[in-house]
Amino acid sequence: MKIMETRYIFITGGVASSLGKGIISASLGKLLQARGYDITIQKFDPYINIDPGTLNPYEHGECYVTADGQETDLDLGHYERFTGIETTRDNSVTTGKIYLSVIEKERKGEYLGKTIQVVPHITDEIKRRILLNATKRHFDFVITEIGGTIGDIESQPFLEAIRQLRWELGPERALNVHLTYVPFLAAAGELKTKPTQTSVKQLQGLGIQPEVLVLRTEHELSDEIKGKVAHFCNVDMKAVIQSQDLPSIYEVPVNMLRQGLDDIILRKMGVEPGPPPELGPWRDFLERRKQATEELRIALVGKYDLQDAYKSILESLAHAGTYHDRKVKTTFVNSEHITRENVAEQLQGMAGVVICPGFGQRGIEGKIIAAEYTRTHGIPTFGICLGMQMMVVEFARNVLGYADANSSEMEPDTPHNVIDMMEEQKSITQMGGTMRLGAYGCEVRKGSRAWKAYGEKELIRERHRHRYEFNNAYLSQFEDKGMNCVGINPQTGLVEIVEIPSHPWYVGTQFHPEYSSTVLHPHPLFMDFVKACCSKRRDSK
Ligand code: GLN
Repeated sequence: MKIMETRYIFITGGVASSLGKGIISASLGKLLQARGYDITIQKFDPYINIDPGTLNPYEHGECYVTADGQETDLDLGHYERFTGIETTRDNSVTTGKIYLSVIEKERKGEYLGKTIQVVPHITDEIKRRILLNATKRHFDFVITEIGGTIGDIESQPFLEAIRQLRWELGPERALNVHLTYVPFLAAAGELKTKPTQTSVKQLQGLGIQPEVLVLRTEHELSDEIKGKVAHFCNVDMKAVIQSQDLPSIYEVPVNMLRQGLDDIILRKMGVEPGPPPELGPWRDFLERRKQATEELRIALVGKYDLQDAYKSILESLAHAGTYHDRKVKTTFVNSEHITRENVAEQLQGMAGVVICPGFGQRGIEGKIIAAEYTRTHGIPTFGICLGMQMMVVEFARNVLGYADANSSEMEPDTPHNVIDMMEEQKSITQMGGTMRLGAYGCEVRKGSRAWKAYGEKELIRERHRHRYEFNNAYLSQFEDKGMNCVGINPQTGLVEIVEIPSHPWYVGTQFHPEYSSTVLHPHPLFMDFVKACCSKRRDSK
């Protein structure tokens, strides 16, 4: 918009993992976007998997999916929730993707007999990918987050690629922001800067001088400490920013703005910063969030007892909660431990229940029991992907009377396969990247709950990640007994949304609405679900 030549900002991390590079990248993106710049944020992960689609959520948290169908790291979810800008498959790169394309080129003979090496061939491919987004359309800023921690063996080619790019593009077009950790030693009563100094030295040893340091800390950093870091790391004092723990990740952009992170970066990149952005609607959201103290308890029924496994669902509930002036308190209920005997106790006091996505047999009977309980007790229930499929199986077993109904994922020879493998999936043998992925259209039946929730829109687009689908051979039986198939893919007839109109709120979606809820645009189905949970709460008080 205002900048002729794209600027590249690299975010690296040192000292420890899990410091929140993704949140810093998303916050910086938010601030630059709020200043009117065209931005994109991409993640480069040093692991060898082509994408995290085949990774167990225990290893890597939730697998996020872009609208164009790439399975990605969950940080892309943060980028979208903060900026509202959709990411694409080019925004998620791994060592695996890099090597795959280099090896494919080698097999085609494109290297003309050269010996293929990490430098220059792998580093060249990394550089090409870093620059790729801006070759397709203009961006003022491309923010690239490098996964992992400085010192990891597998990060080395990425850092070498950054060093080269900074040299080739010049200091105004390429800049490094390094995120580190300043631990507090309780026994000494002191904050320690040595790990930061060591980490910056490591980076300098690789030929990269960070221009900006963001220091994660649990305690306020004094000017003296910041001065010490600046002095030992060759960084301007103003460019030493602290990122202390805050009650919500959504406060980070405001905290970064207060300390002028965006201002410093713009100046260093030769761009006149102008007045700081106001972040009006964003601040309104934060204020509303602070005021929303009344708790709304929602259960997440799933098998992964790990917060990050359902990251986008948690965030979507929090967004919708804020807009209903409620503080959503989610309780994880492990579906493996749900039985007929304990379900009432496990779900006691819940204003609503989300039946979570997932794969495989483990924990599904618990999901089915939970679905039956909430269906028969009028508790608002939102089934997502596998959650929707289990709602369907439960209905088939207990209402249609097919006691052996199941998904063919769980029981390939089930006589009543109300959820069955999609036809195009039957010939697929490779696991990676072969599900039905990304955004597809869905026609929503006029007058249905979903239609009302979507603001009476008849055609929506939502993101997917599945191999199994509702078996349309049973469609009329479901409708006759009161479970309506109100969302249908217009091309294939695939059932995308089921609901029970006679229930206060019982909706299942084959798609994943959680991938597209953002701070400023909470997802309509989560909004409607939370609204129903609020009235359920009032009823039961
Ligand atoms: N396992 C189911 C399928 O493949 C559901 C997938 C999911 O919940 N993302 O269809």
